[in-house]
Amino acid sequence: MNATAEIPPQPVPDEDTLGFWRATEAGHLELCRCHDCRRWLQPPLERCPSCWGETGFEPVSGNGEVYSYIVVHQPAIPGYRDQLPYTVALVELDEQPGLRLPGRIIGLEPDQVQVGLRVATEVVSLPGGDFKVAVFAPQEAELRS
Ligand SMILES: [Zn+2]
Repeated sequence: MNATAEIPPQPVPDEDTLGFWRATEAGHLELCRCHDCRRWLQPPLERCPSCWGETGFEPVSGNGEVYSYIVVHQPAIPGYRDQLPYTVALVELDEQPGLRLPGRIIGLEPDQVQVGLRVATEVVSLPGGDFKVAVFAPQEAELRS
């Protein structure tokens, strides 16, 4: 047995994604947006593909709904073996149709997750480094229903 705790793969920020990681480090979610036509761009791009405008990172609500999801049963990714099975969802944010972000679902068993579930973003520390990542928790109204 390896005595060292397993750590998940660490992000490798580049010029396009640095703004995202700076925001999560500060505890909130920001996504890339065109300064000119105001379109949100995910994944982030240096230039807007619609109008070729300059882009920058701006805060988003982090609220949205589950667009699709998978339930992970196999210990394929180091660092999450003790949490199996867990759910990874693609969440469509309220800001714009098609603006989707992947992340783990927390606070629910896999069989409680469904397409259309309303979720909110939380920013949590990623084990093994200084990065923080976005995860999704059910919105309170969902827990009551
Ligand atoms: Zn644009």
